[in-house]
Amino acid sequence: MPTLREVLDQRVREADSSLYEKLDNRRVRCFSCGHCCPIPEGQPGVCKVRYNRGGTLYVPWGYTAGMQCDPIEKKPFFHAYPGALAYSVGMLGCDLHCAYCQNWVTSQALRDPRAVSPPLEVSPQVLVREALSQGAKVVVSTYNEPLITSEWAVAIFKEARSAGLVTGFVSNGNATPQVLEYLRPWTDLYKVDLKSFDDRRYHELGGRIGPILDSIRRIYALGFWLEIVTLLIPGFNDSEDELRKLCEFVVNVSPDIPWHVTAFHADYKMDGERDTTVDDLLRAAEIGRQAGLRYIYAGNLPGSVGPHEDTRCPQCSETLIQRYGYLIEEYRLTTDGRCPRCASSIPGRWAPEFSGQIASIPFRPHKNSAGWRSRLFTITGH
Ligand code: SF4
Repeated sequence: MPTLREVLDQRVREADSSLYEKLDNRRVRCFSCGHCCPIPEGQPGVCKVRYNRGGTLYVPWGYTAGMQCDPIEKKPFFHAYPGALAYSVGMLGCDLHCAYCQNWVTSQALRDPRAVSPPLEVSPQVLVREALSQGAKVVVSTYNEPLITSEWAVAIFKEARSAGLVTGFVSNGNATPQVLEYLRPWTDLYKVDLKSFDDRRYHELGGRIGPILDSIRRIYALGFWLEIVTLLIPGFNDSEDELRKLCEFVVNVSPDIPWHVTAFHADYKMDGERDTTVDDLLRAAEIGRQAGLRYIYAGNLPGSVGPHEDTRCPQCSETLIQRYGYLIEEYRLTTDGRCPRCASSIPGRWAPEFSGQIASIPFRPHKNSAGWRSRLFTITGH
């Protein structure tokens, strides 16, 4: 029986030429994420899934390690097609190693021996057919860090676009100018996890804050629809000073970027910190408001944060979208995305009209599924 490494080594192709360069002595430099790894011959990059064989960079291709239809609010996107279903697909691996990762079984594959998730052989055509058969409006690359598997995401997005679907990235934002240029023609929505505003914290997670802040500015400037999430972890990233600086940075890019501040619960290796409380979320939301952010959402504690799940008009305070968790309880935006009371334009990607909530909870395919069959690899471990 093959190992996961052996199976994945069969599911690769050469990296897009814009995402790497050849160096001397058969070394290559990858530009798919902010690490910009120089990779010696025969070695993988930090993410473990892109590797140099004979002076050529090989990258993941032709499989998925997880797919599921979710409400788009779960990604979370609150200003993009509310109520739509987002068909979410992922591969394996990540360029960071967050101790609290909720997707560690897929993201830490090839790094943590306990993270074993067998890949499923599949084509972009089959994935998009499946998304359509389940009623999805959006296809999202998520679960692992999609930047490190950008070529495969773009292959799926090209297919999705030609079928009339919207496309999105759920990412840590550790990007490069090269990869954002590569993604831009095929990607509509981009969610960034801004995990901290302290470079020392990012070092603990395996990254640097510089490339992430640069990427946030660039994602916005390039015209992706951008929303930012900060998982609020008591004692890790919740000091008043840090939150104020983080919010001021986002306001500086644009006060119209929605900021989701969400509640932490113990996961993976981070089980010493206490869970985030309602008061913690409300304090962070108030810091965001004072900094000048116009759209702040407190997440993961549905029904407990008052109006902080709702979208309100920043001009006249009219409630425009009322939510409970992922569920839209009321939708009052006009067909052209304006406040019905004062006609202010609300930034976002709005459908011409709200077609109702397709699903309030994640669901798995049943009778509407296209019924595809594929090869699930059996593996022995790493
Ligand atoms: S995706 Fe990032 S971590 Fe992986 S090889 Fe490329 S630069 Fe290195």
